[in-house]
Amino acid sequence: MICKKDGSSAKDGERMKEEFMWNDMQMYRRMISLFSKCTDDYLFAFDIKNNRYMISDNAAETFPMEKTEFSDAFGTLKEIVFPEDYPVLEEDLNRIISGNSKEHNLEYRWVGKDGKPVWISCRGQVVDDEDGNPLFLIGRISDIGRKSKIDGITGLYRERSLKKYLQDLADSGKYEGFLLQIGIDNFKEINEKYGKTFGNDELLNMAECLKKTIGEAGKVFRMGGDEMIVLVEGTFDAEKEDPAKQLYKKIREAMDNHINVNGHVSFYTISAGSIYFHEEDEPKDAAVLIEHAGFALHQAKISGKNTCVRYSKEVYEEYVHMLDVQEELRKDIENNFRGFELYYQPVVNISKKRILGAEALIRWHSSKFGFMSPGQFIPLLEETGLIIPLGRWIAKTALEQCVKWQKAVPGFRINVNLSFVQIKKSNALQDILTLIDTMDIDKSILMIEVTESGEIESSVAARVLRSFKEESIQLAIDDFGTGYSNLRYVKDMTFDLVKIDQSFIRNITNSKYDYLVVKQFTELAHSLKLTVCYEGVETEEALKCVLGLNPDYVQGYFFSRPVPAAEFEDKCLNRSVQF
Ligand code: C2E
Ligand code: CA
Ligand code: CA
Repeated sequence: MICKKDGSSAKDGERMKEEFMWNDMQMYRRMISLFSKCTDDYLFAFDIKNNRYMISDNAAETFPMEKTEFSDAFGTLKEIVFPEDYPVLEEDLNRIISGNSKEHNLEYRWVGKDGKPVWISCRGQVVDDEDGNPLFLIGRISDIGRKSKIDGITGLYRERSLKKYLQDLADSGKYEGFLLQIGIDNFKEINEKYGKTFGNDELLNMAECLKKTIGEAGKVFRMGGDEMIVLVEGTFDAEKEDPAKQLYKKIREAMDNHINVNGHVSFYTISAGSIYFHEEDEPKDAAVLIEHAGFALHQAKISGKNTCVRYSKEVYEEYVHMLDVQEELRKDIENNFRGFELYYQPVVNISKKRILGAEALIRWHSSKFGFMSPGQFIPLLEETGLIIPLGRWIAKTALEQCVKWQKAVPGFRINVNLSFVQIKKSNALQDILTLIDTMDIDKSILMIEVTESGEIESSVAARVLRSFKEESIQLAIDDFGTGYSNLRYVKDMTFDLVKIDQSFIRNITNSKYDYLVVKQFTELAHSLKLTVCYEGVETEEALKCVLGLNPDYVQGYFFSRPVPAAEFEDKCLNRSVQF
């Protein structure tokens, strides 16, 4: 790039050198603007001799600079670089200018447009003139995140450093040890109740405790929120001793986890998830390992907290499978409820000895997973809120079916199950009223079933259920006897029908206790002017036994399993029943 022309004067030489350098700078400018299209990094060229600096235009999107070329490199850098870090940069550049260093490799901070520090990694190479004097420094700057490597609250290294450390272990053939990820139980509530400053103090307290307990034997990193990871290297026979669990216990004992507010002391607990890693593991992916440790911690939290759970591949795969199923459910629901079908189970009217009603029960034939029972997929739908659109479809389909059957059997009634998620998180009542209105049908053909649980006793659910009643929609309490079993509550909520759970009916011929419970429930319900249905009548013997207890309705395999609409119409609709 720089060539000396023999025969020229010293002055000419200087001028030509400058010209060439200027041309070089122009070339760098063109290269920078071309190459910057291929990378998210910022490319730069620093003209050492003339103290000029240029950087690719994309830098102006993140950093407060009007121009991307400066005639006073040091002055401008001083404005962009985080003040605390400027001396380090200056020292490094001075080594380059004086010819003592040919390479620039520094992680430090610039200041972003929002005034917050941005960590960058800057690497560059020196271009010399023919005499070996430094002319240019050219290279690239990577934005390595807006966060520092060190967490400001706890002083611990962050996740990025843990990943790098694990990667280094993998590269050096020393990939043996375990991770223990620890979280404070109910940290969100602690934060909300005692304030963020208090929460931060507790994080610092935990970080200190972890460092002290682990000493030289391991390293501690801060993850997001209230979670930290301890990394312990070494070869362990995890089957025999489970040192991760022992360490968790040690930490738990060492934690000063008491909260003293105005002399009132309360305590919090910690949970942990552990995972062992080995040289044989393939691939050795730090991000995956950390994710699995986090998964184990999540398992510890959902299994009651204040405990340590070790990562299990099987449990993880089950979880991933569940996500797959959820995804498939979503697709099928979005695809016009593909694969969903309503089955109908007869409800026998005891006084009329006839099948004058049916309970609609959802079925799903997945093209990917085959047939799945509602017990498996309904909780997944509830978790994701997908039960809301599906629930609307169920109510519409069931009511349309019932209208058809009513033509043949006046007074025929349909029971539709409603999940507490529909009750709490959607306008289920309005949806149903709109349906009834547009179909121009009598409200009395519908019975809504809600399962007895703590959920329906919440004030929101209670309000919604009351409004159902105000709109004269009939309500049944399902699986009665498995939850709170409070008939007073049932009456207050103005339910119309009590469905005694099938677990009491299943053994009724052998269990005196079950028999007496069902008898008591029925008598009490009747005295409160509620009707009663028994579910799960499977045999003639059971039927004979329960008839003496005077139910209003019965359901069960003895009469029929839930069947598709056509089969119901064929075999069950209006059928008389002998007993
Ligand atoms: P559930 O509402 O208590 O429904 C009764 C369940 O007992 C049905 O199971 C039915 O097939 C089964 N069953 C009926 N008679 C007998 C019997 O004699 N013996 C035995 N062992 N079982 C009997 P299914 O259809 O698998 O539904 C399970 C649960 O899933 C339902 O319990 C309900 O909680 C939920 N579910 C089903 N369909 C829907 C729906 O459309 N919407 C909502 N939200 N939940 C539904
Ligand atoms: Ca039911
Ligand atoms: Ca039930």
